[in-house]
Amino acid sequence: MRPLIVIGNWKMNGSLGSNQDWIKTVARGMESGMPSGRKYAVCPPFPYLQQCADLVKSHSLTFLSLGAQDASAYKSGAYTGDVAASMLKELGCSYVIVGHSERRQMHQEVDEIVSAKALQVLDSDMTPVICVGETADERNSGRAEEIVCAQVAKQVNVLQDRLADCLIAYEPVWAIGTGKVASAQVAQDMHRAIRLQLAEFDEDLASHVGILYGGSVKPDNAVELFAMLDIDGGLVGGASLNPQDFLAICQA
Ligand code: PEP
Repeated sequence: MRPLIVIGNWKMNGSLGSNQDWIKTVARGMESGMPSGRKYAVCPPFPYLQQCADLVKSHSLTFLSLGAQDASAYKSGAYTGDVAASMLKELGCSYVIVGHSERRQMHQEVDEIVSAKALQVLDSDMTPVICVGETADERNSGRAEEIVCAQVAKQVNVLQDRLADCLIAYEPVWAIGTGKVASAQVAQDMHRAIRLQLAEFDEDLASHVGILYGGSVKPDNAVELFAMLDIDGGLVGGASLNPQDFLAICQA
């Protein structure tokens, strides 16, 4: 049985003050208990990871793990501005997002870089959340499944068995931050296609890998999305900035 996982991605948002309020509200909301068999994490910007780790600890927020939004493709060395996976591990991260479409589009991150980052994250004993997804043009031209499965296949080629310790996030680019959520059936169909692509490599691995949906997940659409057979939770951007919305999605 795959656990349901909800991961908040704050992107480049937050401040020392607002982070404090967010963790306090989520801690209050979670202290009376959460549905069992689920996992929750939040990915603040790098400079706030230590603060959030301290706040999670001081509020005894055992339900919430910490994640990062990216990691370097390299282990250490002369890579100005990069943050090594081992540093994120030291700060208490359990998850690291790699290959988010904003990084693929704005920082020219190709599949090879995404796999190199995922390997660094795995080597530091954390879970990479590998994002894949098609653009609006690719979907409109009927190539969505081909594009997404090719992205998954490239990860399989490099990561092989180690994919068993990864999560995949299907994030249609046209749904990210746009309010245009994929219908539960459209998302389910793509999650199924991703699982079948993984099964070509290893059926057992395919049945165990968590595949999250991301793209305008909100409290009012999370229930329907999470009820689908191959949707194992969500990667939540905008809605995760509001602690009440994040809590509502975690409880969906
Ligand atoms: C994301 O950034 O991963 C994301 C899914 O964003 P949003 O929920 O705002 O669409």
